[in-house]
Amino acid sequence: MDQTTRKSLLYKTDVEYGDYTVNHVTGCSHGCLFPCYAFNMAKRFGHVKTYADWIKPKLVSNSIELLDKELPKLKGKIKSVQLCFTTDPFMDDYPEVGEMTLKIINRINQDNIMCRILTKGTLPEYLQTTKKINEYGITLVSLDDSFKKQYEPLSTSYKERVNALKALHDKGYKTWVSIEPFPTPNMGKTAIEDILKKINFVDYIVFGRLHYNKIVGKYKDYQEFYNSCAKKVISFCMTNKIKCHIKTGTYIVEGKDSGGDFF
Ligand code: SF4
Repeated sequence: MDQTTRKSLLYKTDVEYGDYTVNHVTGCSHGCLFPCYAFNMAKRFGHVKTYADWIKPKLVSNSIELLDKELPKLKGKIKSVQLCFTTDPFMDDYPEVGEMTLKIINRINQDNIMCRILTKGTLPEYLQTTKKINEYGITLVSLDDSFKKQYEPLSTSYKERVNALKALHDKGYKTWVSIEPFPTPNMGKTAIEDILKKINFVDYIVFGRLHYNKIVGKYKDYQEFYNSCAKKVISFCMTNKIKCHIKTGTYIVEGKDSGGDFF
């Protein structure tokens, strides 16, 4: 696969449930069409020109050298490192991405810092060699293959994502699911209850609405819809003793944002 180098890698994220993050790839072969916020930003800042460039990822080959320099400087400040926010740490067609992800996790763990992983790819079995301090997660916003074909065309199937997550759970790792960006019913028909049933074994759930998509605005009662879904997520998590986070702008009651951390 193509490679690139960077001058820095580890940085503090603005994402509300994140701390520090590492994004060791430019581009993402999953090619989501929600649209992908990371793709739009990469285009805006001139890192990629077209969708075709975006889905042909470039690996940051000096990732470990950068971490060796940056981690000691941030000692004591980092609680967790998320992989990734602007790319994906596992891409089925690019095993080199996953191999680098494993090296990065092990390097960060060496300083006793936990990694929080999130993917639309397959979490490989070799992650079972990593420290138990890590949390492994998948994004799951639908169970409908025709929806996946339209909006997440090159990502791993929903079934494989869930199976790989369950395998890590069964080995004693903490697991989590990001149900974001959850589509309105005029985009996809999967009920939130059906997704929740499939992932009842996880330790943590993040739920968030879809932004930046005109189709959502065309769904007349979208706020009512997201409020009702948020309530179902909170109630499910309470019953099943799962921590959850409802993202800003998703659950609005009487004009007030009622999201945040629960349990
Ligand atoms: S997996 Fe994430 S980074 Fe990759 S294309 Fe999809 S939304 Fe963008």
